[in-house]
Amino acid sequence: MPLIAAQHLYKIFGRRPQRGVEALERGATREQLRAEGLTPAVIDASFEVDPGEIFVVMGLSGSGKSTLIRMINGLHPATSGDVIIDGENLAGLKGEALRRVRREKISMVFQHFALLPHRTVGENAAYGLKVQGMNRAEREARATKALSMVGLSGWGGSMPGELSGGMQQRVGLARALAAETDVMLMDEAFSALDPLIRREMQDQLVDLQQRLDKTILFITHDLNEAMRLGDRIAMMRDGRIEQIGTAEQILNDPKNNYVAQFVHDVDRAKVLTASSVMEPPVVVIGPEQGPQQAHKLIREHQLDALAVVNRDRTPVGVVLPDEIARAVRAGATTLPLTERSATKVGLQTPLADLLGDASRRESPLLVVDGEGRLAGLIPKVTLLSALASEPVAPPEPEPQDPTTGEEVPV
Ligand code: ADP
Ligand code: MG
Repeated sequence: MPLIAAQHLYKIFGRRPQRGVEALERGATREQLRAEGLTPAVIDASFEVDPGEIFVVMGLSGSGKSTLIRMINGLHPATSGDVIIDGENLAGLKGEALRRVRREKISMVFQHFALLPHRTVGENAAYGLKVQGMNRAEREARATKALSMVGLSGWGGSMPGELSGGMQQRVGLARALAAETDVMLMDEAFSALDPLIRREMQDQLVDLQQRLDKTILFITHDLNEAMRLGDRIAMMRDGRIEQIGTAEQILNDPKNNYVAQFVHDVDRAKVLTASSVMEPPVVVIGPEQGPQQAHKLIREHQLDALAVVNRDRTPVGVVLPDEIARAVRAGATTLPLTERSATKVGLQTPLADLLGDASRRESPLLVVDGEGRLAGLIPKVTLLSALASEPVAPPEPEPQDPTTGEEVPV
């Protein structure tokens, strides 16, 4: 079951907004609504976020991202449609029942996280737990734990003024973590940070997500950030979600001209990761096996390279057809494993970081998962062709409604 579900969500600002929903459903444009004094901020948005997923909503400023996230956390009632958090429909909840869901299930991190200047960092991190009626000792324990998770151990007694901007933003993250909710909503949480610190925070978020199994709805206007963080990305424009997909799907198969144009300039080397271009091993061999066996497997499966792995699937290295043929001719009894054949990279390593290495070597890279087990191989040719491939298909004209000339949904 998804932890967050948005079903045909609309948010229209202005008087009697419901008439705007009906007009949009009849095919009215945003401009027509604006002329009536209505602002359609979110139009018919539907998506689901699975437990443990980082779901990114990406769009330019004004596209409706903040309005969407405020409906998800119950801050804005939807004009129409449903928000379902962990099976509970927010529309059916009022007053204390709504506050309880928001408190117990959802925490939120904002772009401009305002720390209380006269409270300590620890008190700031624990802020929010007090209203839940939690006692002081427990609040402090939670805050200390959360601060250590974001790399701020030992700073609990300091005042916010002693912290850099990046560290202050970490306190915002710690406050959300201290709430120990399953769902975290983050609205441009890293957008105000310097690029280097921002990158660090992104890595830390991915790491925290994996350790704590949080479900994260992350909002950004930065495509590279979206691609780095998102298990899936929703591309938003003018209040509508244009496409939902993985970074690879959006890069390689943009649903319409708008998305295609948007991703056109993305640096593929930075966005695509080892996991997106690797080839899962068809067959592997143990280090105790001999060249004869390797030779047989290479012939049978027409392999360019054969991975050698231990019993726990941690890789030892790679053997190549030429080397194996030579070893067989020489009557060798052990596999010709060399140091240089054992370069290992993580699943999330950007292709940009692999390039220097690949151009210097003949044997493929070994991609390993978090436990160091073999997940796949990247032959040199794959790496080079992944980077060389056209970013997007040539743009097709958007289908137009012949009578009005307006764009119609594809
Ligand atoms: P984003 O977060 O993507 O920049 P917003 O959700 O903040 O976009 O805004 C989407 C649209 O809704 C904008 O046109 C904005 O001016 C409008 N809007 C947002 N909040 C309000 C509000 N409280 N009242 C009227 N219009 C609003
Ligand atoms: Mg916003």
